[in-house]
Amino acid sequence: MIHEIEPEKYDPSFKNIPASDEDYALCYKKDQIFAFIEGGRVFLPRFKELKGLPESAGEYEEIKNNAYYLFDISGRKYFLAEPDLSSFPLSESREALFNDYGKSEARTFFLMNINKFRELMTKEEMFHDGSLGAAGSPSVPMIFAAATGGHMAWWKRSRSFCGFCGTKAVPSETERAMICPKCGNIEYPKISPAVITAIIKRGRVPSEDRILLVRNNYGSYRKLALVAGFVEIGESFEQAVHREIAEEVGLKVKNLKYYKNQPWGLSYSQMIGFTAELDGDDTIRLQESELSEGGWYLREEVPDNPFRLSVGNEMIHRFKCGEL
Ligand SMILES: [Zn+2]
Repeated sequence: MIHEIEPEKYDPSFKNIPASDEDYALCYKKDQIFAFIEGGRVFLPRFKELKGLPESAGEYEEIKNNAYYLFDISGRKYFLAEPDLSSFPLSESREALFNDYGKSEARTFFLMNINKFRELMTKEEMFHDGSLGAAGSPSVPMIFAAATGGHMAWWKRSRSFCGFCGTKAVPSETERAMICPKCGNIEYPKISPAVITAIIKRGRVPSEDRILLVRNNYGSYRKLALVAGFVEIGESFEQAVHREIAEEVGLKVKNLKYYKNQPWGLSYSQMIGFTAELDGDDTIRLQESELSEGGWYLREEVPDNPFRLSVGNEMIHRFKCGEL
């Protein structure tokens, strides 16, 4: 999963420190990450590499001095930096990126949706030990840094002004928070818990078991997935599972079991994974505002998805392999 970057170590503890040329500069434009490709390999920029940007991106020392410390991965420090990215090309997919720039030795900066960026990783690199990918793609720690930095960048930007009095907020010097200098309102990072469930319909023998897969009809992720949804205020995770399943596919489940959880910066959430078994009627009643399709899949019918960064895809894969 995306946060499993061992032997590397993620340290999110807050530090009020300035950026240096060697530190990483995570830059975002809405839900797009800024990166560069050089010699067929993709990199996140360090500050020293921002020095090579055109003038339209802004003044280098100012960008570095205004950077906001985010986190540390095995001694590498990551900051949020805010150059003007309006003149850089948007790359739509892995194929487009490597077709357009993959063969060039020249350094080309580009923007890419973070959801597409995570798919730059190839199947072989799913089991990577944490060092940089072999096939010209980011490694798991890089994908994790891009997604986690994106979550923090969105939080900080969305708290630029006080929600109570509208005054421009400033970053705290002692903890990760945005503070209103007028009314004192403090905004801590926002993480939205969401539940995701592998619903299994047991057959007479394991080879007849089926899993429920659905497809979202919104957002940038449209592959087959598990039923998921945000936890409401006042609700337990388990209650959220039963409610979401009833709302989205009209089913009841039993034998609900906690699986694992993971940070999922792509939707600013913490995903809490469960497995459950169908209870009673297997008729799927889709909530069409959320889902475009849903169906029961035998293990052999489950599409082989190489992208196992998410707890949902890990559960789907383990079902396919007969482990759930
Ligand atoms: Zn205020």
